[in-house]
Amino acid sequence: MAAAPLVLPLVLIVEDEPAQREMLAYNVRARGFEVMTAETGDKALALVRETPPDVIILDWMLPHVSGIEVCRQLKRGKQTSRIPVIMLSARSDEADKVRGLDTGADDYVVKPYSVAELLARLRTQLRRLRPAAVGERLNYDDITLDMTEHRACRAGKCLTLGPIGFRLLAAFMERPGRVWSREQLLDRVWGRDIYVESRTVDVHVGRLRRELRGPDRDDPIRTVRGAGYALG
Ligand code: CA
Repeated sequence: MAAAPLVLPLVLIVEDEPAQREMLAYNVRARGFEVMTAETGDKALALVRETPPDVIILDWMLPHVSGIEVCRQLKRGKQTSRIPVIMLSARSDEADKVRGLDTGADDYVVKPYSVAELLARLRTQLRRLRPAAVGERLNYDDITLDMTEHRACRAGKCLTLGPIGFRLLAAFMERPGRVWSREQLLDRVWGRDIYVESRTVDVHVGRLRRELRGPDRDDPIRTVRGAGYALG
């Protein structure tokens, strides 16, 4: 199997019961995702500010700040409103379900749940936001990226990309039109805990551009002055 094509999706698990929290963390990790955990709502909010996760699994019943309140705060925050929240709850009646969704939760799973079902819901959320990370085939204009086969082509011709070039292209193709700052690309492509100079990003974007252009194609990557790079 090829090396992980992208920085792994980061999942935050917020659950106050240690056994539940560890079981979930174990299963989500086993599925190939990165995990951070919080046992209280306050800690969850602090963690999200520090290291925004790709998805949050949030227990409803937490001491002090409830899961509902955490969800409301996240959905109100400009930086955090787009992070999908899967709410866990022991309450199953419809009113609670509606209330849960009113807080802006993106999905809702009733305890006791099957781990397989929760993982499937997690994957659904990730497929929306991080399609490359769950092994999808991505298309943009005449460019295709096959995550499973680890192959990128333009107009039917395969590109020669190193691991960094491939990850860069995957990040761009997950969100065409999005303007990525150098820092965001560093986090996504090189990893969150690795120190790399931001000039390195320019070097690799330059290489990727040359490969995409070839002798006779236009450059699909845009430089956004003072902001970063975007595809299309
Ligand atoms: Ca709980």
